[in-house]
Amino acid sequence: MNQPHAAVVAEEFAALYGREPEGVWQAPGRINLIGEHTDYNDGFVLPVALPHAARVAVARRDDGVVRVHSSQGGGSVVEFTVESLAPGSVAGWAAYPAGALWVLREGGHAVPGIDLHLDSDVPFGAGLSSSAALQCAVLLACDELLGLGIDRPSLARLAQRAENDYVGAPVGVMDQTASLCCAEGAALFLDTRDMSQRQVPLDLAAAGLVLLVVDTRVEHGHADGAYRQRREGCERSADLLGVKALRDVEAASGPDLDALLDRLPEEELRRLTRHVVTENARVLEAVRLLDEGGLRALGPVLTAGHASQRDDFAISCAQSDTAVDTALVAGALGARQTGGGFGGCVIVLTEPALVPGITAAIAAAYAAQESWNAPAFFTATPAPGARRMR
Ligand code: ADP
Ligand code: MG
Repeated sequence: MNQPHAAVVAEEFAALYGREPEGVWQAPGRINLIGEHTDYNDGFVLPVALPHAARVAVARRDDGVVRVHSSQGGGSVVEFTVESLAPGSVAGWAAYPAGALWVLREGGHAVPGIDLHLDSDVPFGAGLSSSAALQCAVLLACDELLGLGIDRPSLARLAQRAENDYVGAPVGVMDQTASLCCAEGAALFLDTRDMSQRQVPLDLAAAGLVLLVVDTRVEHGHADGAYRQRREGCERSADLLGVKALRDVEAASGPDLDALLDRLPEEELRRLTRHVVTENARVLEAVRLLDEGGLRALGPVLTAGHASQRDDFAISCAQSDTAVDTALVAGALGARQTGGGFGGCVIVLTEPALVPGITAAIAAAYAAQESWNAPAFFTATPAPGARRMR
């Protein structure tokens, strides 16, 4: 299905740079079934790769010069040298590919000059991880083209470092690992502490279900203060509780958890901690349900996850809450905002027959609000992770 895309990206590369690319690689965006903001707390996540992907055509140069172009980057070719790369040295969208090359160079790899053309159908800032898709496509292309032999979990860590230290977004490691390590027809159960992972089969059709994705059309931002503030609150809470990371807080519910939370001096820290601890438990519960073929029972787990990110972690927004509530009223089994938060996309687990009613109800609820963008919809099918296309 993606071969024509790869051919188009190769042709665009040739038109732009006047020579053929050496190869085309692609890396997908993702949705996260459950496990939000757990990935920088050494916790568990359960993402699924989407058919939407970033595709890069690349060819080496022998002069240390890098030229990057994106079909979604405003038209111009951005040029810099490998040698001059340092955090902040390249601004705008090109900071993402620049960061990927920087992190390889910092890791001691000999990075030559490169011509690169990018085309992506992962929407930006919609919580579907266009940034990780872009960086993972570039990193995998470099790894394979240069024969670096870096394993995929390590590439994911490099991509995270590029986003943290070059771009300046304090994200965890889920998005990058999802893009590089997901498999078709499965969700990726990842332990972000040691990067151990397992493909958990996700056969929605066999269960008579679909995952509807609702783009709330509220753009989030990772590099902004709200995300960083959550992250710092989690780190402070872990310190105060005397654990390495909130992952190590094992009481997931009941009096044990309450007693533990009582040890935190601020209500905000108690809320952040309760979200991370209960969210980790929800990931384990979701994996158990998938393993047992209990997909319908996943619905309430998703909805509980949304309540937790709305009430405890405070990363939801009116558009996401409306999409979730409206979907549930229209008969969905469960729904939650997915991704870093403050907008982006909502996932809805439902029977296919209910999709038209759910989308119509959400569209109507949005239309009733004067300033809201119209939502967009698609159904998610678990797609393969990053790979070479030609
Ligand atoms: P998300 O990863 O959820 O889509 P981010 O804010 O993390 O949102 O990343 C979005 C940013 O990634 C964009 O603002 C842009 O700078 C960059 N980006 C992603 N895809 C592309 C692309 N195809 N071309 C240019 N820049 C891109
Ligand atoms: Mg991102």
